Amino acid sequence: MSIQNLVVAEHLDGALADITFEMIALAKARGGTTAVALVGGTDAMAAELGAADTVVRVAAAADFNPDTHAAAVGVAIEHAQPELTLIGNTSMGMDLASTLSVNLRRPLATSVKALDGTQAIANLYGGKMDVTTDLGGGPAIATVLAGSASAGAGRGAGSPEVVTLSAPPDAGRIEFLGLERPEAADVDITAQDVLVAIGRGIGDQDGVEVAEELAEALDAAVAASRPIIDAGWLPKSRQVGKSGLKVKAKVYLALGISGAPEHLEGIKGVGTLVAVNTDENAPIFGVADYGLVADLFEVCEELTEALE
Ligand code: FAD
Repeated sequence: MSIQNLVVAEHLDGALADITFEMIALAKARGGTTAVALVGGTDAMAAELGAADTVVRVAAAADFNPDTHAAAVGVAIEHAQPELTLIGNTSMGMDLASTLSVNLRRPLATSVKALDGTQAIANLYGGKMDVTTDLGGGPAIATVLAGSASAGAGRGAGSPEVVTLSAPPDAGRIEFLGLERPEAADVDITAQDVLVAIGRGIGDQDGVEVAEELAEALDAAVAASRPIIDAGWLPKSRQVGKSGLKVKAKVYLALGISGAPEHLEGIKGVGTLVAVNTDENAPIFGVADYGLVADLFEVCEELTEALE
């Protein structure tokens, strides 16, 4: 078997993650045949993969184990001989992809947001730069950013051929002990009337406190653009945008957010958008109802004082 795209399905708690369908959509848009590697999955999951041409199932424990799952994906790659293997740019996916890249000696493009023939377009440095890499005819591996394609476009009702393979014996080096769940979201930003949203302009983690003070004075919650979440300054539950949450606050105060399309996608439903940015040419001003070319710290300080 020799195919163009092999998507490695990601699942947790018995359910396929959206990134699986997003990768199928990206692979199908790229063209050629697309197989999905389903390691440790269930029949119900296989039945959801109707948009693929082939499903390659490899038996393994369902709980993620980087060692055994990488070996099992290796079996699927060996079988399918894909030009390009697509893996989620997720905590599990990054673990798998780096191991497979070394073990199989295949080049790895990370943080990929689009594919164009043999080219992979990666979004690097927290979204500051797009880098195009020509992967040639492969074989290569790419990790795909969440939100790069519509999950709906990767779903289908077809009946792909299902191939079942057995996994290599477990080397026994890593034992799955349990799943540590993140704490439940402290605040539901999709249900807030007023949001103080911060972007990279906030500078560092200390800056987040300044925004929190203003939010408290406004009886609002703090939301953020992706770089703030990637930096670990706020939990993922506060991310607004394409790969975050869509919010519909009556007032959205955007502090130090440039207005990238991926962020704007999350704020289409807000009532009044107020933007504060030191750069008068920031794209956010093109969509804001009110714009203030100013230092966000000065604005936060004055506004908090006035409200208190
Ligand atoms: P920047 O673009 O760096 O903007 C910072 C702004 O702060 C600048 O405009 C600057 O002028 C201003 N500034 C600096 N200092 C000050 C100051 N003292 N006072 C006032 N203004 C100041 N992004 C999201 O937000 N959400 C998503 O869900 C999301 N999903 C993505 C999915 C994919 C597949 C990809 C490829 C990207 C995604 N991104 C997402 C990232 C997105 O492309 C941008 O990189 C990101 O939104 C930029 O965040 P930012 O505006 O905070 O940072």
